[in-house]
Amino acid sequence: MRSLIELCNSIACKYKENEPLCRHTTFKIGGNADILILPENINELYKVTKHCLDNNIRFFILGNGSNTVFDDKGYRGAVISLSGGFKDISLISENKMKCGSAAMLVNACTFARDNDLSGLEELYGIPGTVGGAVYMNAGAYGGEIASSIECVEVLEMNSGEIKKFQREECDFGYRKSIFMNDRYIILSAVLKLNISKKAVISEKMNGYMARRREKQPLEFPSAGSVFKRPEGYFAGALIEQCGLKGYNIGGAMVSEKHAGFIVNTGNASCDDVIKLVNYIKKEVKCKFGVELECEIKPIPEK
Ligand SMILES: Cc1cc2nc3c(=O)[nH]c(=O)nc-3n(C[C@H](O)[C@H](O)[C@H](O)COP(=O)(O)OP(=O)(O)OC[C@H]3O[C@@H](n4cnc5c(N)ncnc54)[C@H](O)[C@@H]3O)c2cc1C
Repeated sequence: MRSLIELCNSIACKYKENEPLCRHTTFKIGGNADILILPENINELYKVTKHCLDNNIRFFILGNGSNTVFDDKGYRGAVISLSGGFKDISLISENKMKCGSAAMLVNACTFARDNDLSGLEELYGIPGTVGGAVYMNAGAYGGEIASSIECVEVLEMNSGEIKKFQREECDFGYRKSIFMNDRYIILSAVLKLNISKKAVISEKMNGYMARRREKQPLEFPSAGSVFKRPEGYFAGALIEQCGLKGYNIGGAMVSEKHAGFIVNTGNASCDDVIKLVNYIKKEVKCKFGVELECEIKPIPEK
């Protein structure tokens, strides 16, 4: 770790030692990372990741932490956040915009709206970054980010090459992309949208946001829907039918408002969340024979 700190100092790359990860996740859970590194450009990012690879230092690329649960003991290694740069959003042609991977999805949606571009409305309100959304192929209300992707620019970690993946090459599926093989860091994405009218786009966005506010427990820290949608079912409905709304383990509770969410009622630990996830899976399997698969990503300490 000392050598990584020396490298950061030598290239003037920002970092924080012993940074509490609960500050960087929407669940507000997680112990300290040995180091949180905030590269501001590709050169810094490449040097930091190459150093980690060459020296066997474990690292994790963090977006807005809205789908991530870090261990209570923290993370032994480097958490790398692109939020120090990589946030630009720009119009590159009449119907295309380029978004840095650390740009918030909400900002991409409002930028599109302000430029009379339609296609992202359903995603409005998802509290992640563009990079995290591409990685997860985030979606809602029948839409998903894959439909708007023209291409994704990445840093290939081993070679240091910058590569471009066209949409067809991204292997997008339900909450799935090629980027999940963790060989790449997403740098930016070009979104191809449809020309429409700001007022129409705005109305749709507000409608989806109102549905979120009505159905989701946004007043509590969470990581959104905990489970993927099992084929032919809705995870939330199955959990509710098991009578688990309001069921809690420590500070982790099945939301009273939406049983597909686990909320942090104040002092939930990662351990509480994992125990509750396992309990829900057991109950749903027992009552309905359905195997629930986690959408949220627990990150172990080591
Ligand atoms: C209240 C709430 C509502 C939500 N609603 C939805 C919803 O409707 N639909 C939906 O799909 N999700 C939803 N989510 C989950 C979450 O917001 C999405 O999965 C989002 O896309 C995650 O983005 P992030 O930047 O927070 O990613 P993080 O949680 O930071 O990271 C997720 C994964 O992406 C990887 N990653 C992030 N950035 C990069 C990068 N630049 N390069 C390579 N890998 C990267 C990380 O390593 C990690 O493996 C919701 C979450 C909350 C809290």
